[in-house]
Amino acid sequence: MKSILAVYPGTFDPFTNGHQDILERALKIFPRMIVAVSGNPEKAPLFTLEERMEIIRDAVRDMQGVRVDAFHTLLVDYVKTQGAAVVIRGLRAISDFEYEFQMALMNRRIAEDIETVFLMPHEAYTYLSSRLVKEVALLGGTVKGLVSPLVERMLKERYRQRKSGKR
Ligand code: ADP
Repeated sequence: MKSILAVYPGTFDPFTNGHQDILERALKIFPRMIVAVSGNPEKAPLFTLEERMEIIRDAVRDMQGVRVDAFHTLLVDYVKTQGAAVVIRGLRAISDFEYEFQMALMNRRIAEDIETVFLMPHEAYTYLSSRLVKEVALLGGTVKGLVSPLVERMLKERYRQRKSGKR
């Protein structure tokens, strides 16, 4: 029997070790996964879509069964076009729950045959978010151990460019 294909969608601005933790857990259940980066321009991300994809490609380079892609449509439409049946989301704390619950039910309303599966990260990552990582990096704090060395370098570089007015 062919294994179920699952999609892990997100803004991933940038991809953190918390995202990586969820991806690794999901892979144990769904050996075929797509990490799908949202191209929604309304979120005004720090990193371009191409940069965010490059970061994830680097993070998954030794993983079997993972593909990195971008999507610009409704998530459930994207999931269907890929022939996938499951959406993976991470749940950190109660604060995530309400939004994630709303999204999952809305997605089910639009596409009844797609299931959302929630996974919890290792407790070391429950407080970790892309937003917090950006705030700490902007103020010159260390984000070592929270993101990959590539992301650490890219954050430093981006904020250096910003300070010198290039981006
Ligand atoms: P979005 O804008 O879609 O919420 P994010 O990149 O912020 O995109 O998050 C993508 C998914 O990863 C979400 O389900 C989010 O709850 C989950 N996630 C983000 N950070 C963590 C973390 N530290 N641990 C577990 N899940 C996380």
